[in-house]
Amino acid sequence: MMIEYDNGIRIEPLNVNLDATRKCDYSFVSHAHSDHARKHRKILATPETALLYRYRFPSVPARVIPYGRKARIGSATVELFPSGHMLGAAQILVITKGTRIVYTGDFKTYPNLTCVPVEIRRCDILIMESTYGDPICSFPPQNEVYARIIMFIERCFADGNTPVLVGYATGKAQEVVFLIQQHGFPVHVDSKVAEINELYRSAGVKLKPTRHFTERSSAQRVLVVTPQTLRTEPYKALPYKRSVFLSGWSQGGNAKRFCVADWSLPLSDHADFNGLLSYVDKCRPKKIYTLHGTPQFATILREMGHDAEHINKGFKADHKRVRKSPLRKIDLGENFELF
Ligand SMILES: [Zn+2]
Repeated sequence: MMIEYDNGIRIEPLNVNLDATRKCDYSFVSHAHSDHARKHRKILATPETALLYRYRFPSVPARVIPYGRKARIGSATVELFPSGHMLGAAQILVITKGTRIVYTGDFKTYPNLTCVPVEIRRCDILIMESTYGDPICSFPPQNEVYARIIMFIERCFADGNTPVLVGYATGKAQEVVFLIQQHGFPVHVDSKVAEINELYRSAGVKLKPTRHFTERSSAQRVLVVTPQTLRTEPYKALPYKRSVFLSGWSQGGNAKRFCVADWSLPLSDHADFNGLLSYVDKCRPKKIYTLHGTPQFATILREMGHDAEHINKGFKADHKRVRKSPLRKIDLGENFELF
């Protein structure tokens, strides 16, 4: 059984690329973010991801498999299960010749208000995203981040400013809109966020109505917009406003590289460093491949006793039989404090 990384991940004998980065005949699309959801001739996805994907590519045929239902593809059995990253986001379990392989796609271990939480399955080979595989990327507890967002809004109102929450249109914006509406604040959004909100509503997510951010309102309101909107004239013309960028990249002093907002908070739709470690601890794979981020995370995993390797373009590995790592596995609980 061969695992390759070129146009996304390929697992032989599965005739489906996983998150192919260039157009191909048939790709599993783990979720609807544009860096994972390219235009293909046919896709495999959950119903929710297919809904969001076909909003951009309506003519692409989709084989849809709901979470938890097993399906045959060639000689392999596959199952999609939640990754907690955004609405419809899925990991894929591939079972071939008795070997269980999980490809995570993007995942989040903290709960997300607008999608079902991550599930973790035991497997032999784990191919995991490791975007935040650096100890500096350790986010505060999510409820603390939510509380800081609400404090930011209340402080803006007290100072006579309009609070502006800046996030990506698909997934992040809906989580924030849901949070703010739970606290009873009216929400105004830009056109891109409004479009995706509507798709979320059609998939059953209970988002209340919003108005466009240029509409005048006598009441105090919260703006939820994409980074692109900050550069538009209608936005610049709004007086008395304060903005905060919501991203995991705000951790570790990176915020200024990514956004022009006044301030930033680490609300992420990815697992942070500790989340990645806890995933591995629960999954207990025999072999780990890390994808995205830097090779540092694979090095850390090896130091903890795992058989781990970082995947770069052109990667190819032939797995005749998966062996248990000869190194002793260190109990993760004792090591949490080190980071
Ligand atoms: Zn994503």
